[in-house]
Amino acid sequence: MFWDQAAETRERAALAALQLGRLRETVGRCAECVPFYRQQLAETGVGAETLRTLDDVRRLPFTTSADLRANYPDGLLAIDRRRVSRLHTSSGTTGKPKALFFSKADIDTAADLMARCLVMTGARPGDVLQNMMTYGLFTGALMMHYGAEKVGLMVIPAGPGNSERQLLLMQDFRSTLIHATPSYALYFAGFLAKRGIDPHRDLALRKAYVGAEPHTEETRRKIEAALGIDVYNSYGLSEMNGPGVAFECEAKAGMHLWEDNFLLEIIDPATGKPLPDGERGELVLTTLAREAMPLLRYRTRDITAVIPEPCRCGRTHRRLERIAGRSDDMLIIRGVNVYPQQIERVLMACPGVGHNYLITLEGLDEMIVQVELAEGGFDGQVEHLVRLQSQLTERLRAEILVKPKVELVPPGALPFSEGKAKRVVDRRVL
Ligand code: AMP
Ligand code: ZN
Repeated sequence: MFWDQAAETRERAALAALQLGRLRETVGRCAECVPFYRQQLAETGVGAETLRTLDDVRRLPFTTSADLRANYPDGLLAIDRRRVSRLHTSSGTTGKPKALFFSKADIDTAADLMARCLVMTGARPGDVLQNMMTYGLFTGALMMHYGAEKVGLMVIPAGPGNSERQLLLMQDFRSTLIHATPSYALYFAGFLAKRGIDPHRDLALRKAYVGAEPHTEETRRKIEAALGIDVYNSYGLSEMNGPGVAFECEAKAGMHLWEDNFLLEIIDPATGKPLPDGERGELVLTTLAREAMPLLRYRTRDITAVIPEPCRCGRTHRRLERIAGRSDDMLIIRGVNVYPQQIERVLMACPGVGHNYLITLEGLDEMIVQVELAEGGFDGQVEHLVRLQSQLTERLRAEILVKPKVELVPPGALPFSEGKAKRVVDRRVL
């Protein structure tokens, strides 16, 4: 089933032609309406009329999150203020947020792309979506909300946290779908186990959409097993609408990126050079149909690869591999490059491990990995704990080539964030 079959299965050649037309239009509008881009484009000598093929996108300058911050609050706005219908900000890290503007048409397009995603996974009118993402300045909840309403789902704007209330809503209104961060979905699964709720027997849940933060295939399987449902990977970023940019179809084998709305490139993050399909690098996106805030070659910092093979679902929009991490997430420990996802993969694949973990870096390059035990996982036998601890230490050492100190803690002992999970605390003296 498709939300917009013609658009989702558009032949590649026709899709490329559409992209080129939209790219030219976007560049033209950037030059005309955004002084920042006007200057950048003038410096590089590229204009709409000089873009002959899609590869010419590489002649355009990159946009970085630093550019968004430097132009805060409205330096990148391309339309009259009176036509802006929504402001979002990106959660970001510290300092100034990034301001993102949407026109009425932009919101409608974002909702439409989200609708494609939902229908692609089998969501239908009659489904009840419990939206456990944060509502507010963050795009995560609202864009999903609009898309779900467009499809005709009943939406429960629950927001994150307050698991007791989530459970009550879920039971009383027979929620069939949930949208959450993977860390909250896991946490909630642990909460259900503690309460003795068997999701299969006691709830109507069928699918979960998880995203907004990096997570591994092992985490997906763990959520699927704990809740007895299908879990789909949802990728997006506020700079590009929020959720609904790329999403898994029922094949659950990579996320279709809506290429009629976003022009995708994969580059080597160190050199900026383009990489071929199949090779892993940084995702760079150009908006192709945005009014209020078009962005050229935005460096997402997310590391992924394009899956070039056509998908069996029939959609022609190429798929992205699961995000392997962010280029700025990489830790350097005793000279070795380590991604937190490598650690997560080992932990989540290990029976006996619960739903939360925390990596702390201390002193000169000491790594401590605190891991919650599974609910009911401790049988009182200390030697079992010792065995699990040395097993995890060994597996982690084999994966990341650094020997961490593993500490096992009771379920629920580690700090838990309702928004995006904070997995790494860096207290090193550098
Ligand atoms: P925000 O701007 O707050 O919406 O955050 C967007 C960022 O969250 C992305 O650039 C990614 O780093 C991360 N993110 C969102 N969805 C996913 C996902 N499905 N897998 C991995 N990382 C994700
Ligand atoms: Zn597919």
